[in-house]
Amino acid sequence: MTTDVLQIELRKAERSRIQEVDFNNLPFGKHFSDHMFVADFIDGEWTSQMIVPFDNFTLSPALSSLHYGQSIFEGMKAFKNEAGEVRLFRPYENFKRMNESAKRMCMATLTEDVFMGGLEALLRVDADWVPSSPESSLYVRPYMFATDTYLGVAPSKTYRFCIFTCPVGAYYSKPPKLKIETEYIRSAPGGVGFAKCAGNYAGSMYPTLLAQQQGYDQLIWTDAREHKYIEESGTMNIMFVIDGKLVTPATSDSILKGVTRDSLLQIARSMGIEVEERLVSIDEVLTGIESGRLTEAFGAGTAVGASPYALIGYNGKDYMLPEYGPTDSVAVKLRDQMNAIRTGQVEDTFGWVHTV
Ligand SMILES: *Cc1c(COP(=O)(O)O)cnc(C)c1O
Repeated sequence: MTTDVLQIELRKAERSRIQEVDFNNLPFGKHFSDHMFVADFIDGEWTSQMIVPFDNFTLSPALSSLHYGQSIFEGMKAFKNEAGEVRLFRPYENFKRMNESAKRMCMATLTEDVFMGGLEALLRVDADWVPSSPESSLYVRPYMFATDTYLGVAPSKTYRFCIFTCPVGAYYSKPPKLKIETEYIRSAPGGVGFAKCAGNYAGSMYPTLLAQQQGYDQLIWTDAREHKYIEESGTMNIMFVIDGKLVTPATSDSILKGVTRDSLLQIARSMGIEVEERLVSIDEVLTGIESGRLTEAFGAGTAVGASPYALIGYNGKDYMLPEYGPTDSVAVKLRDQMNAIRTGQVEDTFGWVHTV
């Protein structure tokens, strides 16, 4: 990889805000590190790469991404090992996926130089912001949006790519209650569900609010055609333990290919747990809970790792999942192993960690 750091202009913050942050009490996504990386796509090229203090943008009211939604993002985490080295978890997967999202939304794609070079340079400048306490990490948010000031509905010719970061703490919550959604959809075949594009999240908020008014925390999305098969949960992939096997819906154009999903599947295989990627019907899940063959259901995503569910609601009936001790479930075993790889407590036999 060629990372020509000289291309990146660095304007450092006059004073760091790091003293204002309580690293023992980090809420998700509220504290922003001192700097951000910015690059603009103009005349067919990524130009003016800069690391500047985290600050507001000045934007035109006619900015096309605000009107027509050419806006995509990524999310990944960086960790510090005992030696103080900054370790990114599988960043090339996020790079590849960002370009898949960009292609689907008819946006400019990123070069590896800009994505990885900007990411590494930013993490070097803000290395002090990477928490070292167990289960804390630096959440990294790369994103890109259209910047043409033109009201015609057409792909923008100019884009801004930005990366900023947030130190985040352990994500402890009591196991959420999930509702199987059979009216609204998150995505459909031929649509944009596999892309991490802004509008997907906007569209999911109202159905989620309705479920919360019924006492649930999150939704389980089902297929758009029949509402018969499980797709994802909230903004995460979903996994089940059925007959001792790790079972998850196979990815498609209506399911986002999570890096966490892939990591947990690979870790499970390496531990000798059988893995199945296939269609998972609502009926299989509910009868599985009732018969005791389905022993776990959990969400998989960067923010939480693996998040075990308390219950699944369907058509007004709640199906309780078994409760586990803090380290007894397959979900937590897989999550802990993934975290140990990320922080360097165990050897990274997969080659996933990218040291900055
Ligand atoms: C980001 C995301 C995921 C999880 O992807 P990770 O790479 O594991 O963080 C799953 N589903 C949706 C809809 C997402 O936006």
